[in-house]
Amino acid sequence: MKAVLAIYPGSFDPVTNGHLDLIGRGAKIFDRLVVAVLRNMEKDPLFSVSERLEMLREVTQPWPNVEVDVFEGLLMDYARHKNAQVVLRGIRAISDYEYELQMALMNRKLEPRIETVFMMPAEAYSYLSSRLVREIARLGGSVKDLVPPAVEERLKAKVA
Ligand code: ADP
Repeated sequence: MKAVLAIYPGSFDPVTNGHLDLIGRGAKIFDRLVVAVLRNMEKDPLFSVSERLEMLREVTQPWPNVEVDVFEGLLMDYARHKNAQVVLRGIRAISDYEYELQMALMNRKLEPRIETVFMMPAEAYSYLSSRLVREIARLGGSVKDLVPPAVEERLKAKVA
């Protein structure tokens, strides 16, 4: 049987416990999981791509089959280049569904050999997003339990 490689793409600005929940689930099912940070010129990020990669590398250490990478351009070009069979995405609530469905179907049109697989996080993370974490941190609230301790430290330093 051939090994299944999955790509988990996103902004990860910053990585949250919800992302980690999904990474843990993906690492159990796929032989290799590549967490791929999109280098997106349009967004105005809080953390630079290299900061996001550093945090991801640190917090994914417990999983030997998880790697961290960066990509730009079309996800399907990147996935093809990596010889991936799967793209992993998370669905938190119905509100994610419409956008994710559109992306998955467009990606299938671009590359029919790659399947998008959706996973749901634990309920506790279903309302958690990087955007909310950034907002709470900016306004001085506690992000404990929402992000790993290493990310909490960096958020504090960033907004101080
Ligand atoms: P993007 O800008 O591509 O949405 P994100 O970093 O916000 O990047 O999210 C990457 C992926 O992780 C998306 O599939 C998103 O639905 C999923 N995700 C984000 N937050 C959570 C969470 N709390 N639980 C599960 N999946 C999540």
